[in-house]
Amino acid sequence: MKKLKEFKTILNMAKKYKLKILLCFLGIFISSFSYILIGYLNGRALEEITKLNLNNAILFLLIYLFSEIFGSLLERFSFAKLSKIETKMARECSYLTYQKVLSLPAYAFEEKTSGEFINRVTNDTSTIINSFDEIFGIVTRLIASGIIYIYILYNSYIIAIEIIIFIVIFAFVVKFFHPQLEKVHKKRKKINDEAVSQVTESIRGVREIKTLGIKNSLFYNLRELIKKSIEASNSEIDLYFIYDIISNVLKSFLEVGSFITGAILLYKGQISLTFFIAITYYIYRYTWIIENITSFTKTYNEVLVSVTRINEILENKLFPDVKFGKKHLKNCEGVINFNDVSFSYPNEGDVLKNFNVTFKPHQKIGIVGKSGQGKTTIFNLLTRVFDTKVGSITIDGINIKDLTEEDLRKNVAIIRQEPFLFNKTIRENFLLLNDKMHLKDIREYCKMSYIDDYIMSLPKKYDTILGEGGVNLSGGQKQRLSIARALAKQSKIILFDEATSALDNESQTYIKKVIDDLVKDHTVLIIAHRLSTIIDADIIYVVDNGEVKDIGTHKELIKKSPTYKQLYNSELK
Ligand code: ADP
Repeated sequence: MKKLKEFKTILNMAKKYKLKILLCFLGIFISSFSYILIGYLNGRALEEITKLNLNNAILFLLIYLFSEIFGSLLERFSFAKLSKIETKMARECSYLTYQKVLSLPAYAFEEKTSGEFINRVTNDTSTIINSFDEIFGIVTRLIASGIIYIYILYNSYIIAIEIIIFIVIFAFVVKFFHPQLEKVHKKRKKINDEAVSQVTESIRGVREIKTLGIKNSLFYNLRELIKKSIEASNSEIDLYFIYDIISNVLKSFLEVGSFITGAILLYKGQISLTFFIAITYYIYRYTWIIENITSFTKTYNEVLVSVTRINEILENKLFPDVKFGKKHLKNCEGVINFNDVSFSYPNEGDVLKNFNVTFKPHQKIGIVGKSGQGKTTIFNLLTRVFDTKVGSITIDGINIKDLTEEDLRKNVAIIRQEPFLFNKTIRENFLLLNDKMHLKDIREYCKMSYIDDYIMSLPKKYDTILGEGGVNLSGGQKQRLSIARALAKQSKIILFDEATSALDNESQTYIKKVIDDLVKDHTVLIIAHRLSTIIDADIIYVVDNGEVKDIGTHKELIKKSPTYKQLYNSELK
């Protein structure tokens, strides 16, 4: 029963297609009646032949022919319709899971690998939905078999008992194998997740892999995973093999057993020839159902594992959603306040302690400190990649947790060392923000970021496709494009996270120029690794051990802050 609950979300999704699914089900169900009729008609026709009533025999055979054609047409038509609904639902389920994955909190992607999410969005959703027709087939056949059973019971309780004994034995076999099959299947899925993760990760980091010369270790890792996956697959195949053999033996016993019983009863005159012939036909149906249930057990196990995995995402079983508020930031000024914020990452000690700071607009603000002191954490909290548990962060006096997602995202932009650009044209990268944006405006933002000249020098200009992650741009160009993107978003608050640390001098000069322009009407926070980037900042915060240790301009800090002085001196060396 608990397991059936797992299907709640998926069934809710099917609600939309209720009527269509019901009609398909009805079609399949009615078609199964024609199969019931066929067994009986077969028997009647043969019995009429033995009585030399040729006309009657032909009549029964004609009805047989009609029932068979009608039944198979209706069945095929219903299954075809169902397949179409399945395809639609699979896409919808996949889309819903994708949407949900993108709404998960940041730490979800630290705890689970991208491969796991990719598999859930693609494979698991298809596995679930594509099992629908199998489930429908089984259910309708089971109902039809119930009706046949009444007919059998009416004609011979002995054969009816034989069938019941067989079904009970088979139920025990299923009960025994089912949990074991589920376990091996889960294990195989997990290993496959790991393998997909490694492959996706390797493709993303292919340049790093080449330069680090670690190809061979990765090959070795993947080979090990493949070996494990083969082992898991083999144990799954072995288990199904045993299960299959047992169910086949049981099936043969039922077939032969009921034939013998039927023959004896016919010989004794206790059943009619029609019933005997019908039973030979119907018994195949029972054994066929057993075969179906055998293969369905496999599907069911796969579906159950997939449903559980999908529910973990759709029903937030592993990670809660990030909740946003309803407040809007009208004409954002960009005043940021950290009020008594203390924060620690999951399973870590305190990173920020009673952090109290006000960042004001129209200033170039530098944040410096040794590595690991909590600088990036300030940005992680401000962008709600992680959430504060103690204290609050406000923008223009509004707690960022009360803001709508759109308002927060629109007003706060972050420029990272390695900005992520999509594998689309430059123009399309902007259109993702607003599909009505004109090229003229896009160019304007790019001019403000000193990247328009370069783009216009490319043969396809703004229609140049950027490689995955924008590989065909230099680090500095990517950053300038990412700044243009932030400007296009009209963000009032722009965060630079060690953005200039890896740049050559020319790019640094460009970025510095952009920042100086931005400061005029934005709040600009710069985490700087190299102090030269923020040496002319209006205000510099020295962060040490999760606290603001000193505040001032470069000149002031050199005089009064030993930590800053130490940082400065270490850079001169
Ligand atoms: P900084 O930017 O000053 O180098 P960070 O804010 O990145 O420092 O990190 C502060 C501390 O928090 C470090 O000890 C780091 O290991 C830890 N930390 C940073 N990010 C995470 C994370 N996502 N999960 C767990 N610990 C983290």
